[in-house]
Amino acid sequence: MKDKQVALYACGPTVYYFAHIGNLRTYIFEDILKRVLGYNGYKVKHVMNITDVGHLTSDADTGEDKIEIGAKREKKTAWQIAEFYTEAFKKDLKLLNIKEPTIWVKATETIKEQIDFIKTLEKKGVTYKIADGIYFDTSKLKDYGKLASKKKRELKAGARIEMVPGKKNPTDFALWKFSPSGVKRQMEWDSPWGHGFPGWHTECVVMAAKHLGVPFDVHCGGIDHIPIHHTNEIAQSEAAFGKNLAKFWLHGEFLTINRGRMGKSEENIIILNNLIKKGFNPLAYRYLCLTTHYRSKLNFSWLALKAAQNALDNLYQRTLETKTKYSENASCYIGYQKKFLDLMNDDLNTPKALALTWKAIKDERLKIKDKRELLLDFDRVFGLDLAKIKKPKIPQKIKKLVELRERCRQERNWRKADEIRRKIKDLGYKIEDTKAGPKIKIFR
Ligand code: AMP
Ligand code: ZN
Repeated sequence: MKDKQVALYACGPTVYYFAHIGNLRTYIFEDILKRVLGYNGYKVKHVMNITDVGHLTSDADTGEDKIEIGAKREKKTAWQIAEFYTEAFKKDLKLLNIKEPTIWVKATETIKEQIDFIKTLEKKGVTYKIADGIYFDTSKLKDYGKLASKKKRELKAGARIEMVPGKKNPTDFALWKFSPSGVKRQMEWDSPWGHGFPGWHTECVVMAAKHLGVPFDVHCGGIDHIPIHHTNEIAQSEAAFGKNLAKFWLHGEFLTINRGRMGKSEENIIILNNLIKKGFNPLAYRYLCLTTHYRSKLNFSWLALKAAQNALDNLYQRTLETKTKYSENASCYIGYQKKFLDLMNDDLNTPKALALTWKAIKDERLKIKDKRELLLDFDRVFGLDLAKIKKPKIPQKIKKLVELRERCRQERNWRKADEIRRKIKDLGYKIEDTKAGPKIKIFR
């Protein structure tokens, strides 16, 4: 990490459909990492790829290209599919307050560099040709698979054993796949070996090395990338450059649903738009992700999301109060800031940092002004938009109904008061009776 600069690469989306909220959990984790580095004074050069070709339905180099499947499904060209879902992905990032990478790079933009890279591997003597394409010979590396635990490696290798005919070792993988004979693919290019397209694992190495050099500082992705995708990125980097691709590898755990992995092939996905349609703020999902450490599984349920939405609304309300209330108390907020930094620097402990935030909110020793500064400071990492929160405008009609209900209460007409409360609720507002009088809130 030279001159407080960090070079970060995150495996980007395969743009054949909308990202599901499991994918988005990984991007939220990477965003928190990036923000924490920024909070510590580092400048982050963040590169994210767009996989718009070469990711097959099976990680074992068989099956169809996911983008071409999308094209068939929607009766569009592969290029249109990639374009549409890239834009949709960028919209999701915005809605979740995920900062955009410094550089976006598409796999289809770096085909020439990928062909050159495969030529380098060829010169190093680690490739071989079979009917299906050019493959990487993993037996040529002494410590192939060091990123994954032995158990995981064996499992994956076993599952892949008799997949592609002619493969020398079960863990060998495609660098360049030939277009099937008699089939015209929508995305294919000429190469010294024949018409075809690059392998997914090659794309990432080439795009990362091109923009960040080797070794760069941090490489991220979801946990499923450890045994195959990232293992194969490391293998290629070591064979071509004689060194590991990155100095640190960080992986986010899965979002699960009914305790099983959320995934397109599992047919259990939920997309961000499903949440929005049900009336949730996308940042409630971000809040939910913060409540669990990135290396632990997070089991999604609508109930858990509702609780996160309530907590977020509460946080907004409390932040608003720091704008309006005045207090004269002593303050000790530096202690909070130090604790926050320690927690975030301890492998991004967002659940404890959230707990600390609530402790600060309830701490009467803190001056309100300092509390506000503290919340906004923490939000540089949380990214929950606390600075943007405005008092909701309550319509005149609702205010009138609340006044009427107050009058009924004073006259001890409880039945009528309850009736008005119900009416207010039906109109989307709720009343909270406090010592200072009734408070009106938007009802979700
Ligand atoms: P893909 O678009 O399939 O390449 O996946 C994009 C990112 O989402 C990768 O970093 C995956 O590891 C990650 N990912 C896939 N499924 C999940 C899940 N259920 N929970 C968290 N991350 C996931
Ligand atoms: Zn990748």
